Amino acid sequence: MSTAEIIARCEELYEDTTFAASRAWKEAVPGRKVVGFMPVYIPEEIIHAAGMLPLGILGGGDNLEVIHGDAFYQSYICRIPRSTIELGLTGRLDFVDGMLFPSICDVIRNLSGMWKLMKPGVYAKYFDVPQNYRDDIGGEYYQNEMQELRHDMEKLSGNTITDEALNNSIAIYNEHRQLVRDVYAMRSAEPWKVPSSEVYLVMRAGQVLPVEEHIVMLKEYLAAVVKEDKPIRDKCRIITCGSFCEQPPLNMIKSIEMAGCYVVDDDYMLVNRWLMEEVPTDGDPIKSLADAFLHHSADSSAKYCDTQEKVGQYLLDSVIKNKAEGVIFAAPSFCDPALLERPLLSAKMSENNVPHISFKYAENSGQMQPIREQAGTFADSIKLWS
Ligand code: SF4
Repeated sequence: MSTAEIIARCEELYEDTTFAASRAWKEAVPGRKVVGFMPVYIPEEIIHAAGMLPLGILGGGDNLEVIHGDAFYQSYICRIPRSTIELGLTGRLDFVDGMLFPSICDVIRNLSGMWKLMKPGVYAKYFDVPQNYRDDIGGEYYQNEMQELRHDMEKLSGNTITDEALNNSIAIYNEHRQLVRDVYAMRSAEPWKVPSSEVYLVMRAGQVLPVEEHIVMLKEYLAAVVKEDKPIRDKCRIITCGSFCEQPPLNMIKSIEMAGCYVVDDDYMLVNRWLMEEVPTDGDPIKSLADAFLHHSADSSAKYCDTQEKVGQYLLDSVIKNKAEGVIFAAPSFCDPALLERPLLSAKMSENNVPHISFKYAENSGQMQPIREQAGTFADSIKLWS
């Protein structure tokens, strides 16, 4: 398969707000169930081990007209909860048997409550993650949370989740995480061959496809990119940071590239890269997942930071590792967690002489000219003066 064919398929999945691929998976075998989850991170392995499909819900994008959703929320919050309500009220998620709302901010917490009111009888849970990284405190707490989720998923699916099944799912997700890392590493090494918009679409496809199918897609994409022969342009290497859960419109990702930037790292769809190392597959799987979260997960802004010194270190490490020449902070409008973290991250970049700019977006932002101008001027200034 060529990259063009793979990207065309990903684009089709991206634009489909009816989730036809996930519906087809469910309809293929009677009794199958689908569990939706909001960004940023949940242990998908537990859903998978129960024989169900984890479905990443990333809002409505720029194709969905939000009418009912606006009535549920005040105007000064981000757009993803409104468009998710719209997806729910317009029947687009009527095939989803359960919804998980991972703890990321109060907006998502409130959305979980609204979902319960909107969809009585449909399983919905606000899933908490630890904010303490000691094994005997946060570790124990998180293991209990995951055991509760395991129990709920057993009840929902009607299947027992054995340790063996869970370890098997961890092994599959380990392979998936490695391939995701390979794609990001390839983009960092040869960004002229791996446009950021393609990486985004390929990663996004993984939110609606079964992990096994996405593994095949990632392998095909990596193999196809090797055969690509694209010219190297005189662009600067930048990192985009700050997306949390509301994703930018695809046009924004393309605009940054067209403005003269190679994006060599980003924090879109962190669920794919949250756990940074192989999770052991031969022990107590719940303990292994808890250990991985506590000690081997990405210290991005979306994770609670327990010491002041760690703030921004993950980003700085990425700048160094990916030889980035600058950082573009692009966060959703009204995203409190991202916008409160930004001054700290900016300060860290300034202390280390890393050029940076910032702007905001909404998933349905339509005007790309100002973004293109800002990103273009930023790229030029790096080329001329850095
Ligand atoms: S985009 Fe930010 S404010 Fe909105 S739901 Fe996500 S984390 Fe919360």
